[in-house]
Amino acid sequence: MRITTIIGARPQFIKAAVISRVIKEISGIEEILIHTGQHFDANMSDVFFEELDIRKPDYELKIGGGTHGQNTGRMIEAIEEVLIKEKPDWVLVYGDTDSTLAGALAATKLHIPIAHVEAGLRSFNRKMPEEVNRVLTDHVSNLLLAPTDTAVQNLKNEGVEGLKVQQVGDVMYDATLFYKEKARKPEFALELNSDFVLCTIHRAENTNDPARLLKIIAALNSISEKHTVILPVHPRTAGVISKIPEIQLQKNIHIVDPVGFLEMNWLLQNCKLVMTDSGGVQKEAFFHLKPCVTLRDETEWIELVKAGVNMLAPPESTDIIAVFEKMYNKTIDKNLNLYGDGQTGKRIIDLMQKNNFS
Ligand code: UDP
Repeated sequence: MRITTIIGARPQFIKAAVISRVIKEISGIEEILIHTGQHFDANMSDVFFEELDIRKPDYELKIGGGTHGQNTGRMIEAIEEVLIKEKPDWVLVYGDTDSTLAGALAATKLHIPIAHVEAGLRSFNRKMPEEVNRVLTDHVSNLLLAPTDTAVQNLKNEGVEGLKVQQVGDVMYDATLFYKEKARKPEFALELNSDFVLCTIHRAENTNDPARLLKIIAALNSISEKHTVILPVHPRTAGVISKIPEIQLQKNIHIVDPVGFLEMNWLLQNCKLVMTDSGGVQKEAFFHLKPCVTLRDETEWIELVKAGVNMLAPPESTDIIAVFEKMYNKTIDKNLNLYGDGQTGKRIIDLMQKNNFS
């Protein structure tokens, strides 16, 4: 069996590392790796290949930096060329980025079966570029690998059901278990106490709207009066912050470059609480038994909110600090099982080998 894997952005490197490790252990499967170039900075891309032992991509398309339309269009063209040459049995795509959609569209036009990891997630907010990417990818995929009950139900509600929808758990949980022991303390963390707050912000809805971003920063400034805040800053957010003079960060907010996955795991293991607008980080907070405040109007990972381990703090309409205070001393029940058993990667490859979903 030949699988062409398409990755391009940070969370996809982490998820693909899980599956590539499973593939390596099974004889008779060849993986062809395409890196679209969506994320290209050393600390958003190279560090993950090194730390997570992902082999050098077979194809590096170096497509990034344009608008969504430009990137997606150029990726489709370049991926199609590779697929025509390689003729894989499967195209494997992850999540909800432009690379995901481009891979799915290129494959479906060539009648190559598509397996979509993280199928069925919905925010029901079509203004998010990610939501459009997920919906369209799901509707052309042949094997929809849904992480949760909610994801399966979302697909059913859209008329996508049957054998091609498989609930497999979450590969991010596999990744957390595998890298837990390998976590590495960042150099900047030497002096940190255990009550620090870990924060990530990168969603377009927060970074493209100065009013929202200013509200988030005001809340962080206030929180930083009592707690150290560590903010590994995504390039998109760094770019915006540097252009808004009204943004003044208090000195107890430590802006650092994006960290590698091993350092991120150390920060997750050792912080007191997580504040984020990331999809992956919301779940990782839970995996590390940390309460989470989600700086968004909605979340795809609704089971975390229902379980009370994550609380939404829509930046425009809520008092972020009040939500922070509610969650600060929350204990997370380690027996909650929301995302599978850590064997999701293996389950996905087993299903692809059976190959009877088209
Ligand atoms: N991450 C990381 N370093 C950072 C920030 C995030 O390794 O400085 C990891 C994080 O632990 C998670 C993934 O990147 O596994 C999430 O990526 P991101 O938040 O960019 O995307 P999303 O999950 O929202 O799609």
